[in-house]
Amino acid sequence: MAFIPYGRQNIDQQDVDAVVECLTSDYLTQGPKVPQFESLVKEYCTVAYAVAVNSATSALHVACLALGVGKGDHVWTSPITFVATSNVALFCGATVDFVDIDIQTYNMCMLQLEEKLKIAAQRNELPKVVIPVHMGGQSCDMAKLALLADKYGFRVIEDASHAVGASYNDLKVGGCQYSNICIFSFHPVKIITTGEGGMAVTNDQNLSRAMKLYRSHGITKDDRQIQKEDPEAWFYEQQKLGYNYRMTDIAAALGCSQMKQLDAFVNRRRELVRRYSEHLSNLPLSLPTERPEIRSSYHLYIVKLEIKKPTRREVFDALRAADIGVNVHYIPVYRQPYYQALGFDKGYCKDAEAYYSQCITLPLYPDLSIEEQDYVISTLEAVVLN
Ligand SMILES: *Cc1c(COP(=O)(O)O)cnc(C)c1O
Repeated sequence: MAFIPYGRQNIDQQDVDAVVECLTSDYLTQGPKVPQFESLVKEYCTVAYAVAVNSATSALHVACLALGVGKGDHVWTSPITFVATSNVALFCGATVDFVDIDIQTYNMCMLQLEEKLKIAAQRNELPKVVIPVHMGGQSCDMAKLALLADKYGFRVIEDASHAVGASYNDLKVGGCQYSNICIFSFHPVKIITTGEGGMAVTNDQNLSRAMKLYRSHGITKDDRQIQKEDPEAWFYEQQKLGYNYRMTDIAAALGCSQMKQLDAFVNRRRELVRRYSEHLSNLPLSLPTERPEIRSSYHLYIVKLEIKKPTRREVFDALRAADIGVNVHYIPVYRQPYYQALGFDKGYCKDAEAYYSQCITLPLYPDLSIEEQDYVISTLEAVVLN
């Protein structure tokens, strides 16, 4: 059997045709496809504004900038995430801190967040922004987070890189009912792809405007926003120090086409998850759980090894040797040398470190065949019970 990765894109002929059509059209960038893709995502999520960018990292960055994150500010996130989530706060000159995870969902723990907020309030070090991460596609407890945001006066950016197509309380993630901004990733391993790409969605017009400025050099050509009276037809204005974070029309054309398949992708992932859970339930593993108010998009299928022997490393290496592309999501961010140098010690978030010592991500993507999945299941069983 050929190598089975932990995740991969699903590209069909319609996707290929959509990209080729864009390539032979008048615009490769800054044409009609980016606004079209933004509209599709807005409608899907029931949200007022969408800002497409060239990665989720860029989306997180413009979101932080739009919320005014800068020197002297504190930004809190989960240690169990990709480094980009916390790096963006450092881009802005802010101080990053980490809130330990919930041992069931692997999302930021709301009880530990509340405790940390109480202490921070006494020290006058409350965060300006908290960035929850919807780990594996399961939304955080957003209603609780919104209550805390209200009480302690911080803003919320959802890192929904894993959760395109997921729901919370029967609302699509991205509706921003409980957050200021929500961001998505369209990297090929995520739920839908644009090659590289990301998007920030919000119901706040001012935040949307600011993020649009930051994605394109801080420049506007919109007469309604230009400060100069009676601007000439060629006129544009740089109002902020922005970046070139634009998405191309080629990427957006792929995104528009992928949106048509989003629900089918999530359904297929969920079907495969059901099969995994059914066949792995007798092994000494903790399987993913889904809270009743959640419908996960299942970007990742993460199991935790509940025995000491074989070790996680032995299980991981044996699966890789069998051409199964298992992975580990994630090394706690603050364990990285860069973050150690900022002063974070081992043991800082005990639940995150315990989780990290046991977790393994199994292959999961819409194109994974039943035959391949059965091979993963039987190999894992043989390795774990050996
Ligand atoms: C993938 C990912 C990112 C970064 O996404 P890019 O589109 O590659 O920039 C950020 N946060 C999380 C949780 C991710 O999984």
